[in-house]
Amino acid sequence: MSLIVMKFGGSSVGDAERMKRVAKRIVERKREGNRCVVVVSAMGDTTDDLIDMSKQIVEGTPPAREMDMLLTTGEQISIALLSMAIQQLGEKAVSYTGWQSGIYTEAEHGKARISDIQPHRVMEALDNDSIVVVAGFQGMTEEGQITTLGRGGSDTTAVAVAAAIKADLCEIYTDVDGVYSTDPRIVKQARKLPEISYDEMLELANLGAAVLHPRAVEYAKHNKVNLVVRSSFNYNEGTYVKEETVMEQGIVVSGIAYDKNIARISILGVPERTGQLAAVFTALAEVKLDVDVIVQSGVVNGMADFSFSLPADDVEKALNIIEGIRERIGFREVTSEVGLIKVSIVGAGMVSTPGVAAKMFDVISKLGISVNMVSTSEIKISCIIDGSRPHEVIQALHTAYGLDTEVQAFVGGPKDRR
Ligand code: ASP
Ligand code: MG
Repeated sequence: MSLIVMKFGGSSVGDAERMKRVAKRIVERKREGNRCVVVVSAMGDTTDDLIDMSKQIVEGTPPAREMDMLLTTGEQISIALLSMAIQQLGEKAVSYTGWQSGIYTEAEHGKARISDIQPHRVMEALDNDSIVVVAGFQGMTEEGQITTLGRGGSDTTAVAVAAAIKADLCEIYTDVDGVYSTDPRIVKQARKLPEISYDEMLELANLGAAVLHPRAVEYAKHNKVNLVVRSSFNYNEGTYVKEETVMEQGIVVSGIAYDKNIARISILGVPERTGQLAAVFTALAEVKLDVDVIVQSGVVNGMADFSFSLPADDVEKALNIIEGIRERIGFREVTSEVGLIKVSIVGAGMVSTPGVAAKMFDVISKLGISVNMVSTSEIKISCIIDGSRPHEVIQALHTAYGLDTEVQAFVGGPKDRR
């Protein structure tokens, strides 16, 4: 008998029909002999609708405490209805809010971090042969205030509950089959990865592969929670996210991600003085501009050039800030370029394999595209390049790193993977 946490997102429970289908899925899992805790998000667009309602009442920023009070109602609707749907199918079920589930958070409304979970009520219900339905995205402070975990926070609830009750597996049900080697809408031969390491998933999640919230992946890594991402609409095997993977043996690159609408700003002819770089980036950080890759050229005749990439939408704001410190810095010229993309290859196997970056540059240059900027981490290489032919680049990289070919599918169910 396994103890499992099953998490369903808002689209999986978007209406009554879907809710019933999810209930059926849960009951099947229970009748296979598992003990089941379910974490669920607000139905469909409920959270967005609630935010819109607050905007009709308040101009500007609504009070954070009341906002959390409002938004947590979305999940509360889901848990009650889902619990009823399960009971309709003849199983025992009980719904618990975040605070009833013993989910304690820090006192930061709107983006509270989970600080502790005391799941005794959940455990008692499980012992009573009940399916337990827990509201995602919410918790309570030590002082008894209701909090939310930030948008997309139900994934984190699921992982945190799984860690607290020592679940054998945390299943994240979503509208895709799993994690793919790249966007299947771009590359036809993109394939579902049988498994992926936490670190790789973290890089991909931060790069915008939207299947899992990055904070949930961090939490899973830290607490060694076995995760699987799978579809709520079919029974296909999903993608397992775990500590070490067989992917590391032989496969160097696991996935390719890309970000559109990237821009580059260059500040040219900056007189070399201590603290110049700090002055520029402090000014940008003060207005919360999210700068990504930063490059500083060597100093020639006492002058250096800085370049950095950022989302294209932020260019104007950034240029204004930089103009504002022109005199202080004393640079010659500032230029900007839009229409770029960031392509990234991610793979735990690259740590021990030479030539991975060289191949990436080679593939891109063979397409007649020059690489503007590069950044790397242990398991990721990102290139900022001209964005006019993104699909060709991604396809070429996918082929070059051997991702088009089928890998041997993993045989066996979740129990074999622990
Ligand atoms: N309902 C919340 C949101 O839409 C939490 C979640 O979906 O995970 O952000
Ligand atoms: Mg939602």
